[in-house]
Amino acid sequence: MDGTPSIPSPRGSEASRLRRRARRLLARFHLPPDALPGSLALSHRRCGKPTCHCADGDGHPLWTLTFMAGGKKRVETIPAGWVDTIRPRVEAGRQFKQAAAELLLINAELLVLARQQRPRRSRRPAAPPP
Ligand SMILES: [Zn+2]
Repeated sequence: MDGTPSIPSPRGSEASRLRRRARRLLARFHLPPDALPGSLALSHRRCGKPTCHCADGDGHPLWTLTFMAGGKKRVETIPAGWVDTIRPRVEAGRQFKQAAAELLLINAELLVLARQQRPRRSRRPAAPPP
């Protein structure tokens, strides 16, 4: 910590409320080890064989997981038998991302409060009234 200027903790009820929310989020969410990104979706595809039953219907059910990797959208086919296992893992990933985004915002709000609560002497003096 040598030489690192410390940022004062903001005071007041708003800051306390934000810190409580942050503690709740941190207590609730640990990085889920098997969480998955993206979203699961079911679509239907016709296989193209003219004699297949799908030629007259909706097509064969096809589950996919769509997610971003390295700035590119990826779509992976998921075997139907895996869907029930993968669905909660995708949901865990979604909740984790939401909680992480909320925690970052709380910390930003605390930073803003700390900035607003800096002692007056460190600010420019107010302009004199005209
Ligand atoms: Zn078919």
